[in-house]
Amino acid sequence: MIVAEAKPLAEIYALLEGKKKVLMVGCKECVTVCQAGGEKEVGLLAAALRVKRELAGGPALETTEKTVQRQCDPEYVVPLKALAAEHDLVISMACGVGVQFMAEHLGAWVIPALNTKFGGGSVEQGIWEERCGFCGDCVLHLTGGICPVARCSKSLFNGPCGGSHDGKCEVSDDVACGWQLIFDRLKATGRLDLLTEVRPPKDWQTSRDGGPRRVVREDLRL
Ligand code: SF4
Ligand code: SF4
Repeated sequence: MIVAEAKPLAEIYALLEGKKKVLMVGCKECVTVCQAGGEKEVGLLAAALRVKRELAGGPALETTEKTVQRQCDPEYVVPLKALAAEHDLVISMACGVGVQFMAEHLGAWVIPALNTKFGGGSVEQGIWEERCGFCGDCVLHLTGGICPVARCSKSLFNGPCGGSHDGKCEVSDDVACGWQLIFDRLKATGRLDLLTEVRPPKDWQTSRDGGPRRVVREDLRL
């Protein structure tokens, strides 16, 4: 899922200067799971902003709170258009994709309440970790299901760098060396042979650089 976390309250509050009526929209998918922008967080942020405005002695802040199924889908965003037009500002509590879909389809001024972090998951209560760097050409079948793009700090594809020590990455002893993890997993599963094969360099054309990427499924098009 997409993992995000709340921006500091003061940062969001500063963007509301001069605004009286604000539409706040949460998303029921990833950001609900990582407890950053679901229905509960929309209510908490709305209350905090109203109180902050009241304590500052400014004009009362009026908030309307909604949470849609997905902000990254026009089907759920477009119906908010009339409501958005009745407000001075829209605060999106979705990931950056949701914010952009809202801005694109509402014709309103939309600001983000979250910082979108990475593609990952929860490893224990209250901790989420990155797992995929969205490279566009997955190699997990060669690496024991451990991503060298996201789990190696240098996104190396040919084994550990010289800084790997005691299973840790040289960037921090709090970070496991991705290539140590890969080696250990391949060894445990009897697939160390995968490390002895010589492969061509990874083709990064499928990755982030080169403009926004598209997936086109002709079988699904109307
Ligand atoms: S190899 Fe690429 S697609 Fe696969 S998990 Fe890593 S970054 Fe994601
Ligand atoms: S120590 Fe390991 S994880 Fe860190 S950059 Fe080197 S190979 Fe990658």
